[in-house]
Amino acid sequence: MTTADVQINPNRLLEDFNELTEIGATAAGGVNRLALSNEDLEARAWLADRFIDAGLVVRDDDAGNLSGVLPSTLPGARTLLLGCHLDSVPDGGRYDSSVGAVAALECARAISEARIELPFHLEVIDFTDEEGCWQSLFGSRALTGTLTETYTSDKNADFGPFRAALFRAGIRPSDIHKARRAPQTLMGYLELHIEQGHRLDQSGVDIGIVTDIVGRTTYDLTFYGEASHSGTTAPEQRRDALLGAAAYICAAHQLAREEFPAGTFNCGDLQVLPGAYNIIPAEARLTMECRHADKDRLADMETALIRLAQELVAAHNLSVNVKRVIHMPTAHMAEPFVEAIANACRRLDVSCMPLVSYAGHNAQILCDFTATGMIFIPSVGGISHSPKELTEWRHVVIGTEVLLSSILQLATSTTPSSCTSE
Ligand SMILES: [Zn+2]
Repeated sequence: MTTADVQINPNRLLEDFNELTEIGATAAGGVNRLALSNEDLEARAWLADRFIDAGLVVRDDDAGNLSGVLPSTLPGARTLLLGCHLDSVPDGGRYDSSVGAVAALECARAISEARIELPFHLEVIDFTDEEGCWQSLFGSRALTGTLTETYTSDKNADFGPFRAALFRAGIRPSDIHKARRAPQTLMGYLELHIEQGHRLDQSGVDIGIVTDIVGRTTYDLTFYGEASHSGTTAPEQRRDALLGAAAYICAAHQLAREEFPAGTFNCGDLQVLPGAYNIIPAEARLTMECRHADKDRLADMETALIRLAQELVAAHNLSVNVKRVIHMPTAHMAEPFVEAIANACRRLDVSCMPLVSYAGHNAQILCDFTATGMIFIPSVGGISHSPKELTEWRHVVIGTEVLLSSILQLATSTTPSSCTSE
């Protein structure tokens, strides 16, 4: 049998999808499958059973990442990872946490049944806590050795429940570092995911070929003024921290829209102290994030947003403390993977377009480590992280076919050995 004869089985794919989305199903039609919860563990057990049924080699690592491997007999073969995650956000949708898993499983099964000998081990891998219920992108960070030292023991936070959840799932916090792999054992990383945005749906295109994933930086900004009586303090004496923060939020949105139209800005959290109606706010703490696919533009955006805060506090007779909290670098997908996906779309006569991902993914972590590619399928109305999340079933089938064809393209092309990421 040649690679041209390998086909996915859409009926079996649908059966898998229906069975998997029953686990943690909510009345609203979504899925509640938080990382390390009973539902997440049940979904893993289900996936492990499917791996066994398919004759794949089942393994799990010290970070709880669960794999089904179709081994290659080629001496010195490296591994192509097919990534997915079974965990969901609270009250999430059925597609985010399930499509990647059933598609990767079906591709490995189809190749195995066709007895195609691949020049690499094919490993379907479910990563622990992609969504960040405990620690965002935990499994892929563990595999790439990029978890921070304090991931389970930060003195400023209560990590007791997280540690308890890890133990309960059979993961020893002190052993998690053993999940690290050597990059030279990997040939690449490929993932099918829903877009979670509206661009494919609006343009009527079947497949998005991800070229970049946006970088994201989060800041804590604390505006300091002075508490005093709200009735008796003269207007010129007032140093209102909240007024400064509010002016900042409005001006920052405008700045981002006008000067960085390809980026995004959000302020989603605000705390006011002392927090009483008759006291002028002494402190306003906000968390803001900005995203951009271009690393230099992201840096420019950060500089401009911080400068804006400093200008506004001067105008309001306040001061500000700036703390950079989280930085996720921009990620650039590997050319051979982008080409393999584009070739697969051509072969299957499927419409496709290049896309930047504005959501974070395990691919963002893997990209620094090995050649990485991502395939997006449309989200109806662009809705995601909601029970209303929907992808037309034909797009799940098309996406799985493109994933299979991309794997076979990579098998016949020269082995990619590097990816660029920054
Ligand atoms: Zn996801």
